[in-house]
Amino acid sequence: TVVFLNGRFINEDEAMISPFDRGFTFGEGVYEVCISVGGKIIDLEEHLARLDRSLNAAGITLPPERSLMPGLMHDLLERNGIKNGFIYIQVTPGKTVRNFIASPTERSTLLMSTGPTPLEESNAYKHGMRVQVIPDIRWGRRDIKTTMLMPQVMAKRAALDAGFDDVIFYDDLGITEGSSSNVFMVTNEGELVTRPVSHQILSGCTRNTVIELTEQNGMTVTERPITRDDLLQAKEIFLTSSTYLVVPVVELELDGKSKIYSCEKTKKIQNIYMEYLNK
Ligand code: PMP
Repeated sequence: TVVFLNGRFINEDEAMISPFDRGFTFGEGVYEVCISVGGKIIDLEEHLARLDRSLNAAGITLPPERSLMPGLMHDLLERNGIKNGFIYIQVTPGKTVRNFIASPTERSTLLMSTGPTPLEESNAYKHGMRVQVIPDIRWGRRDIKTTMLMPQVMAKRAALDAGFDDVIFYDDLGITEGSSSNVFMVTNEGELVTRPVSHQILSGCTRNTVIELTEQNGMTVTERPITRDDLLQAKEIFLTSSTYLVVPVVELELDGKSKIYSCEKTKKIQNIYMEYLNK
């Protein structure tokens, strides 16, 4: 597969990154994942705007190709023969001596790669997920989309080992988000709810689009904290992300209790979102 690394399209075997890149030595880095549907990159500007926000918050210099990125992303998809798939973007500070506060003197490292994604054919999209609700052990700036993903990897692995498909995290205020998705619930009264954005969750591009689309379709989304008890009382729960799209949670485990959910409204929102993707 062809990757884009620091200004060049090269074969993955030829890609070289310094062992002193702070992405490697300090785990400093931010990323984005976008999908392409029929060659169109979904919410491209929103993803790049979030990349800029993550870079600024993390104090990482924007890569010199920043303004060319939309074109480069399309070019990379084409070079890899991908119409329906994902594009991964990662930016790390570049190399310095191994000192916490050293500033790089050269460019930041920009890596972009692509891959196929099953989208709506996926089992989870059709049949939903079984999810475990667990404490959020991540840091206090979850609005920064950092490559520092050990807590998510560990949580997801443990959930899979226990026979679940994914996790939903909670903190003192209630539900934060999924391991790589945002959480919505439909209450018994039919109210659509998701947690407001803050430093505690990632402002999901899919989340924000789903809020817009549902409102265009006569539904209102209330942005307020969701407690664990709210989840147990809810009628439906669904997760959103660029790669999941809109995925129903059909079963959930929380403090040893388990609950089954329907997905009537979720299916409606899936269809609205799919229409948006194929527009
Ligand atoms: N929260 C977290 C922690 C994530 O990793 C993701 C996936 N990027 C999301 C939410 C959903 O974001 P988006 O809809 O922009 O893919």
